Amino acid sequence: MIQRADTYVTDTAGRHRGRFAPSPTGPLHLGSLVAAFGSWLMARRAGGEWWVRIEDLDPPREVAGAADAQLRTLSAFGLVSDAPVVRQSDRHALYDAALARLLDAGFAFACHCSRSDLVAAGGIHRSCRPGALRETPAIRLRVPDDTRIAFDDALHGRIEQDVAREVGDVVLRRADGYWAYQLAVVVDDADQGITDVVRGADLLDSTPRQILLQRALGLPTPRYAHLPLIVDGSGRKLSKSLAALPIDADDPLPTLRLAWCALHQNPRVLHGIESVDRLLARAITDFQPEQIGSAATTVAALHNCAATQPA
Ligand code: GLU
Repeated sequence: MIQRADTYVTDTAGRHRGRFAPSPTGPLHLGSLVAAFGSWLMARRAGGEWWVRIEDLDPPREVAGAADAQLRTLSAFGLVSDAPVVRQSDRHALYDAALARLLDAGFAFACHCSRSDLVAAGGIHRSCRPGALRETPAIRLRVPDDTRIAFDDALHGRIEQDVAREVGDVVLRRADGYWAYQLAVVVDDADQGITDVVRGADLLDSTPRQILLQRALGLPTPRYAHLPLIVDGSGRKLSKSLAALPIDADDPLPTLRLAWCALHQNPRVLHGIESVDRLLARAITDFQPEQIGSAATTVAALHNCAATQPA
């Protein structure tokens, strides 16, 4: 498990280039809009840039037309990339080059183990099963014993993970030939000069392995802020509940108010605003990053918050 320490660090000083990186596996839902709006607000507040990148490297999970629908929804919400939108499916050469460097340096290896070989170890790979042979092996990053990675998340404070024990050797290219998200995201964040990764807290436990990969590739580590999750009444993540309904691009204002509440901002400041542009302008002015914190909210609490009337 990820451990949470007591330190609380916020550091958005200096140059800021943030991003929103949806996977086109379906329409945007409230949780994804919170990540988009939160990362956009952090960038705007810092006077920085906000880029959109489509993470379409997993065709079996993708839905035809979803990327374009996501981009249309974002623009209906007034959230438009400051740079041309890139798609990971156009960037295989970059991932190939990074993988080649890791293999050449001896940091990565071909792994012939099957999923069932790893069941006894809870899916955590530490060494290859002797004699296993696959036609197309996966490629993994070798994670030496006692590889502890710590970082200061702007919202969650100090986070530490023993990557060897809790994650094991990290898959970089899957046995089915597709790139692993972990490699592509690290390569792209560095290639695009992203300084601030602001995304949902469901990715908090991926961050230590991404930092490990950055170090292996000699890439800079951006600042991280993992936004609070939205949970349903029984504490399940929004994406696993009925509340993960697509958001309505034809009626952005109510959803923007919910997302504002999910970021633990004061709902009263957006009261009575009836245009997206004016709402966003007001949101930039009144945004208080130090209010976000790390506490998850329920869908019911969000609806109550968004219905708050001025005092
Ligand atoms: N593509 C990932 C997702 O949609 C997000 C990746 C990231 O923000 O690092 O969950």
